[in-house]
Formats: sequence, structure tokens, C-alpha cells
Amino acid sequence: MIDTTQLVAEAEAMREQLITVRRDLHAHPELAFREVRTAGVVAARLSELGFEVQSGVGKTGVVGILEGGKGAPEHGAVLLLRFDMDALPILEANHVPYRSQNDGVMHACGHDAHTAIGLGVAELLARHRNDWDGIAKFIFQPAEEIVEGALAMIRDGILNAPTPTRVLSMHVDSKLPRGKLGVTDGAIMASTDDFQVTLRGRGAHGSTPHQGADPIVAAAQVISAMQTIVSRNVSPMEAAVVSVGYIRGGTAQNIIPDTVEFGGTMRSYKEGVTTLLRERMRVIVTAVATGLDVEALITFSDHVTPSVVNDPVPTAIVRGVAGEVVGAANVLSDYRLAWAEDAAYYLRRMPGTFVFVGAGNADAGITEPHHSPRFNIDEGAMPIAAALLTASAMALMHGAND
Ligand SMILES: [Zn+2]
Ligand SMILES: [Zn+2]
Repeated sequence: MIDTTQLVAEAEAMREQLITVRRDLHAHPELAFREVRTAGVVAARLSELGFEVQSGVGKTGVVGILEGGKGAPEHGAVLLLRFDMDALPILEANHVPYRSQNDGVMHACGHDAHTAIGLGVAELLARHRNDWDGIAKFIFQPAEEIVEGALAMIRDGILNAPTPTRVLSMHVDSKLPRGKLGVTDGAIMASTDDFQVTLRGRGAHGSTPHQGADPIVAAAQVISAMQTIVSRNVSPMEAAVVSVGYIRGGTAQNIIPDTVEFGGTMRSYKEGVTTLLRERMRVIVTAVATGLDVEALITFSDHVTPSVVNDPVPTAIVRGVAGEVVGAANVLSDYRLAWAEDAAYYLRRMPGTFVFVGAGNADAGITEPHHSPRFNIDEGAMPIAAALLTASAMALMHGAND
């Protein structure tokens, strides 16, 4: 097998090419399920590289398949390599030559870099096709930001033959310095559940509150009581967040309104905790509201986005490769974020690993968080990611079925 040092050198030699692809995508961002131009760029390049390509999977997704040429491909694993392509509804505030030409739409999460990195990995695997066994099944996924693209691609059959048995994916991270890699076992990103609450009281004049039932006072108490879910119900050994993100009610200073609405998000890492958050939310909202003579209506999101959970076996393999790419001292094995990611749906169906690639650079002023209108990355992270994923893919596929 080809050694990692050589792949690092080859990926580094591709730096300008990766930057060109990323900047082109950055200038032409597309929202969820509208990644038509992006998918076109991806499909054309994969075809050039000799991949078997299928477009329009999960609406605007692209699948590219390449068989290794070292021995019979069935000796190796079928590896799903997942990259996301969508941008966000944000007006870009960066003044760079490759600024978004699609006003109000911006690659503010780095999915432009992910797509460029994916094509870089595809090229390296194609170039060294005779050095690996197995089947590489690339998916360029739409609509990660609205957490629907993964399920759309799964519904369109990407888990059918060749059936992937392992999955590898990644995200750049502007809060992690370039040159660092996060390769962590277990739950690394949060499960997300949203809630909406309507408190229905009885309106009255502000001077005669006893003639009504005040939903504003009830909302204040319900929201205060909700703070005990994390502090009193979740075990101190676990992590969770309950945040109210909006509250609406009332029109004038002397009118007690009929209703108040509020809503927010809950994040957790384990299924037991996710269930507990919903249960406690329901009981507290209903009981406190009832005690104040106000009716409570609570709804949760249709489906809870599960947490992203890395399997220890492939994660250990990738951690070893990461050490060869950036040096073991630069590999963080306890790095987690409270983001939600629909890669969770693949990782629930097969063992795999999701890595964070440091793309921040405080010296160059690249520190803005993801989803900020000033978000940017250190593009030097791209060759690192390409080398890491290529070498990891070869290692994960190799001899899996011998
Ligand atoms: Zn994002
Ligand atoms: Zn993202």
C-alpha cells in the first residue's frame, strides 16, 4: 500500500487546484436541494476521473463509484465517503475576489471546501487505483443545512448495492486551528429536537387581571421552570442544552393578551437524555400552565435528528492515519461540538467515523464562527483533509472481507 507521507505530498501539490475549485463554488453558492450547478461540476469531474456517476439522487445529490484495482474488489469494504454541497441563506459580508455572486446566499459553513476536498480525494484514489482494494462509493449530498439531504439520498437507494458497510465523513472547523484534527470515539455531535409552545389564557384589561387568565405571567414562570430540566433532571455526568429562541405575545401596555407563543431547541448526546428532555418539557409546561389557569399546547419536531456517533474501530484506524498526516500531538481524541449533522443517519446504519478538520488561523484573522456572514477558512486545511481522507479510505477498505 502507498504510504501516507507520499499522499500528503501529493495532496499538498494539489493545493492550488483545490483552492480554485473551492473559490468557484464559493462564488456560486446554492441553497438546499437547489445545488444544480454544484452537482454539475461534481458529476463532470467524477466522470473525467473514471467514476461510474449517477446524478439526481435525493433530488440534487451525486453518487460516484470506483472499484479498487488491487486484487478482487470484493476483498475490500464498500466505503461510503460523504461530502455535503449546500450553502446558507446569508448575505456575505466578506470582501474577497471570490465573494458570493448570488446575493443572500453564502457558503458560510464550508461545504464549498468539503466538495472541493471530496473531488481531491476522488482524484487521489483514481490515480492510485491499483494500490487499494474495495469499492469507494462517494456521495455528494444536498441539503445538509436543513437536515433533509441524507434521508433524501437514503430514500433514493444509496444504501443498496453496492451496499456500503463503513462510512467516512468530515467537517472543517474554523474554531480549530489549521493543522489540528479531531478524531473522537462515541457521540461527537448533538441530537437536536425543536419545540413550540402556545399558552392560551383569557385576555383582559391590564387594570383588571382577575377577570382574565394571564399567559404572559404564565410564560415567564414556565420558561423559568424549564431551566430545571438541565440543572435538576439531567444527570451531572451527561450534557444537554434547552434554549428558548423566541417569545411572542401581546400588543399594548394595558392589554393582557389571549396567547403567548415561544419555541426553542434542545440538544443532547444520548437517546435516554433526548427522551428525558421531551418528557420533562411536556410535564413542566403543562403542569405550570395548568396551575396558572392557562392552557398549554406543545409540539415537537417531526423527527429528532440523532446524535453523530463514531464507532471506535474505524475511528482508531483513522486516528492512526491522522497522526501520520499532522503528527500525533495535533490529533485531538476528545473533541465534540453541539452542532447537529445529518451524517448521523449514515452512522446509525453502519460503523464509521466523522472527523473535524481544523481550518482556523488566528494569525490570519480567520476565527469567525460557522454561519457568520464573515465566515471563512484557512484554505491550507484542504490538502490536509484530502490526504487524511484518502489514506483513511484505503485503510478502511483494505482487506475488510478477507
Ligand atoms: Zn452549517
Ligand atoms: Zn456544515
